[in-house]
Amino acid sequence: MDLGLTDRCVVVTGGSSGIGLATVRILLEDGARVAFCARGAERLEAVAAELADEYGGDRVLARAFSVLDPEAVAGFAEEVWQTFGGCDALVTNAGQGRVSTYADTSDADWREELELKFFSQLHPIRAFEAVLRKSGQGAIVGVNSLLALQPEPHMVCTSAARAGVQNLLKSLATELAPDIRVNSILLGLVDSAQWQRRYEAREDKAQTREDWFAALARAKRIPLGRLGRPEEPARAIAFLASPASSYITGAKLEISGGVSRFA
Ligand code: NDP
Repeated sequence: MDLGLTDRCVVVTGGSSGIGLATVRILLEDGARVAFCARGAERLEAVAAELADEYGGDRVLARAFSVLDPEAVAGFAEEVWQTFGGCDALVTNAGQGRVSTYADTSDADWREELELKFFSQLHPIRAFEAVLRKSGQGAIVGVNSLLALQPEPHMVCTSAARAGVQNLLKSLATELAPDIRVNSILLGLVDSAQWQRRYEAREDKAQTREDWFAALARAKRIPLGRLGRPEEPARAIAFLASPASSYITGAKLEISGGVSRFA
């Protein structure tokens, strides 16, 4: 299906790895111009150079900063405007989860997690709102987690923060309509740098990567029997960021291999 992304400009936060990087690739393959960010300059620049070689340097803009720095995010929005002359879609993907129970989450941890989850959405949305409105077909895709609706006790503050973010995105779908559509992705478990780090920290170092991931999928009772691959949510993100989803706003799309327990 032609998503209608040719020559459109899409911004992806957290684009140097995992789901964000897979999204950047799919958008470029579909003809979009893509601006993306991450904190770590080395990996970001290596990825950007590779993509510029493959798709053309005039279609790729990458800058290193944290989405929690509002001035840096605003500066990026200005640079995207100067470089591409507009922005049609924003994918708020940057972030990571926190593994901790109620008992071992301090007040400082709570503040840090709530700040990351809320402001990784709010700063980019504020910075790009005006230019997305000008697009005429502006779209925001908030990358969220199934934890928003199905909390896990071992990820207590991430789950609570995710629920708040889901609520926020729903409100924005009303407030920013009709100029900007706002949708969210509810992820289950997707094989990316986060899970690679957890695999590397496994107790039984004799366990192979394949065995560790298969055991994880069994333990989580994922009906499709495996974790997702980054390009699987990326395809859904590209759809929701594109004019092909023009009558969808305020929706949430679960990409989880069927792991949710609610109807
Ligand atoms: P990765 O760790 O592979 O990628 C995360 C990306 O975000 C990297 O490019 C990272 O680069 C960047 N990033 C992290 N924090 C910031 C920040 N403050 N400012 C700018 N960039 C940042 O993770 P995933 O692809 O798995 O995750 C993508 C999103 O999906 C995250 O928000 C994650 O929490 C969420 N998610 C993932 C799930 C999964 O199973 N994979 C499940 C549920 C939600 P750098 O570190 O250099 O900044």
